[in-house]
Amino acid sequence: MTIVMKFGGTSVADGEKMKTAAALVSDTAEKDDVVVVTSAMAGITDLLLDTAKNVCSMKERDIVKFVDKIKKRHLDAASIAVVKNIDKITSAIERRSAELTETLMNMMDTGLTDQFGDRVASFGEKFSSAILCGAISDLRHSDWHHGDNDLIVVDTDFINPEPDMAATKENVGKRIVPQIKKGIIPVITGYMGCTHDGQTTTLGRGSSDLISSIVGACLDAEEIQIWTDVDGILTADPKVVPDSKLIPSISFSEAGELAYFGAKVLHPKTLLPAVKNEIPVRILNTQNPSSTGTVIFREAERTPEVVKAVTSKKGVTMLDIVSTKMLAAHGFLAKVFEIFGRHGISIDMVSTTEVSVSLTIDSRVNGRMKPVMKELRQISDVRMVRDKALVCVVGDGMRMVPGTAGRIFSCLGRHGINVECISQGASEVNISSVVDERYADEAVRVLHDEFFPEAK
Ligand code: ASP
Ligand code: MG
Repeated sequence: MTIVMKFGGTSVADGEKMKTAAALVSDTAEKDDVVVVTSAMAGITDLLLDTAKNVCSMKERDIVKFVDKIKKRHLDAASIAVVKNIDKITSAIERRSAELTETLMNMMDTGLTDQFGDRVASFGEKFSSAILCGAISDLRHSDWHHGDNDLIVVDTDFINPEPDMAATKENVGKRIVPQIKKGIIPVITGYMGCTHDGQTTTLGRGSSDLISSIVGACLDAEEIQIWTDVDGILTADPKVVPDSKLIPSISFSEAGELAYFGAKVLHPKTLLPAVKNEIPVRILNTQNPSSTGTVIFREAERTPEVVKAVTSKKGVTMLDIVSTKMLAAHGFLAKVFEIFGRHGISIDMVSTTEVSVSLTIDSRVNGRMKPVMKELRQISDVRMVRDKALVCVVGDGMRMVPGTAGRIFSCLGRHGINVECISQGASEVNISSVVDERYADEAVRVLHDEFFPEAK
């Protein structure tokens, strides 16, 4: 079997953690072929992006100081994680540090461009992959690869890059597969790829998961493991519901809804290459490796629970849009969505009648809503209500079991929480209710009690 093991920033945060990760890789390699994908050490990407942003106001000596700090953190980690190959890894860190200094110095004149920003940000994974590879090499044969070096090809712009799966698969076939066949464990940087003309690009914050899913799909892996610092996906955010429990198995569509609406464990985009290739994605905890975590399957095993989880998204703005007589009802919705689309504002939830539509957007885009409101007012009466939250009840089983919406309504009603709007998508995986933001946590708690009474 081929297993892709991806380690997040917290799982490679220092030398000890790198050692733990390397031991986990070595254990898995006892019986399976392993390919590793790694994030940068926790906090490094933030530091790099912050420096790239401020580079124009920095002096040369600030840059030298900054790179020294980054170098020291990696040398410290390497001195703990790596024994046999420490000289090789130390000189790799030295080399990368010099390159980082040079890149930043060049940027002092040009300023921050998307290209430069991505180049600087990519150093985090370049450092961490060398150290993790060094730690694994103490136990087994390993080699590292940079995703931006003709490996992970992305086909669009720097703002919203999409993987070119065909080109990437060809590269993986040429560079990674032969190593696996020879018993070498490849360690691939997360986060980055290259454009067709060979420039470094990153795939967005948190995208090392996506890279692991791309690599898994190219290798037709049996499983993609996302090693992180939690046991898996829980029935609710434990900060809100302390007795929430681990979900052992969940479907891709359920996980996608959860990721989109608040559970921070995975970005929904991560799952796409895995879903297309029917590769299960398992979330595991480096601090608790004996737990089997949460596995995300195309079709989750049918469990007695109709509902898998309750989640919420705060910072939501609701728009109530009522068609005025000016426009016949049949063109109304199309026109409304066209306006949002043209202004690049994405809509989270929609609930419609023939002549009106209620929809929610992320409050962070409120600042870009002025021209949208102006256009909407030409065809409708619009009311914008802020400080709302979406409370989402997620579960594939709701398709089969009638009455879940009724239970949600009466549960919230019993607890005096007013539901301003409710929506159930055609897939029936998610029933979302709009409530006042200040009641969002309570709504999650009472719904969790309703659907998971045994957890109380
Ligand atoms: N290091 C990158 C970030 O912090 C990518 C990742 O960790 O997934 O966003
Ligand atoms: Mg991450």
